[in-house]
Amino acid sequence: MKKVLILVLLALLFCGCEKSLDKKLQELGYSEEEILKISELNEEHQALFLEGFDETALKYIKDMAFDEEKFEEYLKYDGKLEQSLLMRLINDGILNDKNAEKLFKMYSSENFIAKNENLYLQYLDSYDSLEEMMEIVNTKRYEALFSDIEPVDMSKGDLILVNKYYQLSEDYVPDDLVDIDPSLGRGQIRGKVYEAYLKLLEDARALGYNLYVVSAFRSFAYQDGLYNKYLRSDPQEVVDTYSARPGHSEHQTGMAMDVTVPGYSLDDFGTTDAAKWLNENCCHYGFIIRYPADKTDITGYIEEPWHIRYLGVETAEDVYARKMTYDEYYACFVE
Ligand SMILES: [Zn+2]
Repeated sequence: MKKVLILVLLALLFCGCEKSLDKKLQELGYSEEEILKISELNEEHQALFLEGFDETALKYIKDMAFDEEKFEEYLKYDGKLEQSLLMRLINDGILNDKNAEKLFKMYSSENFIAKNENLYLQYLDSYDSLEEMMEIVNTKRYEALFSDIEPVDMSKGDLILVNKYYQLSEDYVPDDLVDIDPSLGRGQIRGKVYEAYLKLLEDARALGYNLYVVSAFRSFAYQDGLYNKYLRSDPQEVVDTYSARPGHSEHQTGMAMDVTVPGYSLDDFGTTDAAKWLNENCCHYGFIIRYPADKTDITGYIEEPWHIRYLGVETAEDVYARKMTYDEYYACFVE
């Protein structure tokens, strides 16, 4: 009899508590559905909701991915990333106090490429800076050069990427090559590129920079001969820093040229005012300096202030403004 009485008392007490929780929550403005969710939580977490109507906490318990054990972490990092991403990173144990700031920066970077997410996480602490790590991953430089070679995606038109990972076919020759006026240099180049170059040249000449073209379009076979010639005097790993393997040369696109001014070899061109002007202004005519000094570890080529690549004004200006290599720009914004 005593036992029954105690049980009844306990039951009454329990119901009373339940009722008072529901009531309090109701008074705070929670809906029935929300109250049901809250009542499933442990007391400590329920208490959060009793302090006032808590929209932030509410959105997490309503989420399918909600894991009560991680509740404090969701709240701690709330607003740092889009909710589903944040919850996934926390649920999977990826996000922690040590890497949180880095991850927030990484996921909100303009250079973030979704398909590279796992690689970013894999290499998160392998490089000096987050920017460098993303650049390495975006340009596939975590892989050895010339590994995993893919054909150039010709559907990109003027924006095709040719580098140590992307190769042109042996028989690719642009169908709109024109001769460069012999007084302006030698070789052939695509018609629209020549037009853009003539505009650039006109303005360069007005400033006294008499640029001329040393090398323009090169066929696969020509590049093959050139590369093999270099191999006779330098080891391959050295040749690869200054000469492209056949199929990997931008010159085969008909959209790249090597230029200098009278009295200067290509190697000395970088010391001239003309080179400085070209570097700062060629984007306004649709060209970029394809192999800059501070990006040799990304491009795989030594600095080539003389090598310009046509991309069209809009893209060239964007690449220049972002101070990116075209390798990374392509991965982020073209591919
Ligand atoms: Zn070149």
